[in-house]
Amino acid sequence: MIIMKFGGTSVANFEAITRTIFIIGGKLDQKPVVVVSALSKVTDLLYRISDAAAAGNETETKDLLSQLRQRHVDLAAELLSQSVLKDEAVANVNSICDSLDSIAMAVCSLGEFSDRNKAIIISKGEYLSSTIIAHAMNSKGIRTRWIDARDMMVTNKSYLKAEPDMSAIAERVPGVVSQAYEGVDAVITQGFVGVTADGEPTVLGRGGSDYSASLIGLAMDAERIEIWTDVDGVRTADPRSVKNTKYLEKISFEEAAEMAHFGAKVLHPLTIEPAVKKNIPIYVLNSMNPSGKGTAILRNELIEDGVKSVSFKENIKVINIFSTRMINTSGFLRRVFEIFSESKVSVDLISTSEANISVTVDAAQNIDSVVAQLSEFADVIVDDDKSQVSVIGKNIVRLNGMLKKTFTPLKKCNVYMISQGASFVNISFVVDREELAEVVQDLHDHLFDQTEELETF
Ligand code: ADP
Ligand code: ASP
Ligand code: MG
Repeated sequence: MIIMKFGGTSVANFEAITRTIFIIGGKLDQKPVVVVSALSKVTDLLYRISDAAAAGNETETKDLLSQLRQRHVDLAAELLSQSVLKDEAVANVNSICDSLDSIAMAVCSLGEFSDRNKAIIISKGEYLSSTIIAHAMNSKGIRTRWIDARDMMVTNKSYLKAEPDMSAIAERVPGVVSQAYEGVDAVITQGFVGVTADGEPTVLGRGGSDYSASLIGLAMDAERIEIWTDVDGVRTADPRSVKNTKYLEKISFEEAAEMAHFGAKVLHPLTIEPAVKKNIPIYVLNSMNPSGKGTAILRNELIEDGVKSVSFKENIKVINIFSTRMINTSGFLRRVFEIFSESKVSVDLISTSEANISVTVDAAQNIDSVVAQLSEFADVIVDDDKSQVSVIGKNIVRLNGMLKKTFTPLKKCNVYMISQGASFVNISFVVDREELAEVVQDLHDHLFDQTEELETF
C-alpha cells in the first residue's frame, strides 16, 4: 500500500486534476490511499468566509459563498461532462455548499463564532475536492471509494490546530481503509480534516494535509508516502524567493524535519515524525512533471554529511528577557518556559547570557499573555520586524570552517542571535527583516558554490 497526497496546486482545476488522476491510474497495483487538499486558494477563501460571517457582513459572506459554489460546480461539470455521474457529482457539491451556507449564515446572524464552527467551515474545501475527484476517478474507470477522514483521524480538542491521537488513529485507520478497499481499485480521503473522540470536527492546522498523509502512512504501515506538489522535489532553498536553487536527490528525515520546522513550506513541519517511527520513505514529487525522480527523504544513515539548505522564516519576533537578580537563581529558566508552555507559545531559538534570555517566536503567535506574565519579574523588550535564517545539513556543525562560511557573506548586516542545534544539523541566526532577501541570496550563493571544499574534523 502507498499513500499519495496531492496538494492544492495538483488539484487546482480541470487540467491539474486530469493529470493527477492519470498519475494515480499508473499506480493502482500499489494500492494507493489518495489524500487530497482543497483546490488551490480555497482554504484561504474559506477563512475569508469565516471572517466575513464573524463580522456579521452578510453581503460579503453571501458573495464569497457563491464564488466558492460556482468554482466547484463548474469544475465538477467540466470534469464529468461526458459521464453519467455528472448529476450526482454536481448534486453532492451543492449539498456540501448548502451545509456550508447554513453554518456561515447562522454565524452571520447570531454573531456567535466558536472554533468548532470555524473548523467545520474551513474543512469544507477538502470535502469538496475529494468528492469531485472521487467521481472523476470513477468516471475514468478507476473504481474509487470515498472515505470520510472523520471516521478515523482522531485528534484532541484544539479545533483549529488539533493534535492527533496516535493510538486511536492506529486503531481506526486500518479497519476503515481495508473495508473501503473491498471491491475497488483505490480509496480517497481528505487531508487536513480531523475529529475528536466524541465526534466533534477539527482540523490539523494550515498545510496539514501532508501530516494527514504521513499519519495514515504510519497507521497503514505503508511502503512509502508520496507528497505530490508543484516543484521537482525539495531544493536548497525556496525557489520562489531564491535564485539558482539546486535540486536535492535525497535528504534525511532529520534534515527534512529541520527544513520544514525552520520555514521551508514544502512540507508541513510534523510530516516527518510519523514516517520516522516505522522508517517509511517520503518522496516529494511534481505532479506537473510526474516522470521526474523527486526527492527521497530517508533514514539518516543513507545520507551524506554536508549543507543541504538555507531555510528562513520571514516574520518572527525576538523576546528579550532581562533580569539581573534572577538569572542565576535555580528555577528561573523553568519559570520562564512554563509561561511559554502554559500560553501555548512555541519557541524556536534560545540564547542566554549572564542577565538575559532571548527567544524567537513566529510572529503569527499571540504573545501578549507571555509578555505580561514575564514582565511581573523581568524587563521584557520585544523586537519586531526580524527574520530568522537557518543553514541546515547533516553534521554541519562539525564541519571545519562552517561558521566562517556561514557568516562571511553577512559582513554588512547586523546579526542578533546565533544558535547551533545540539543535533549538529542546524545553524540559525536572526537578521532585520528588510535585509532578509539579500542575506538569504548571498548566503545561498556562497554555500552552494563551495561546499565541496569543506572538510570534517
Ligand atoms: P502544496 O499545495 O502542494 O501542499 P505548498 O505550496 O504547500 O504545496 O508547497 C510547495 C511550495 O513550497 C513550492 O511551490 C515552493 O515555493 C515552496 N518551498 C519552500 N521551500 C522549499 C524548498 N526548500 N524546496 C522546494 N520548495 C520549497
Ligand atoms: N487546505 C489546507 C490549507 O490550505 C491544508 C493543506 O492544503 O495542506 O492549509
Ligand atoms: Mg503544502
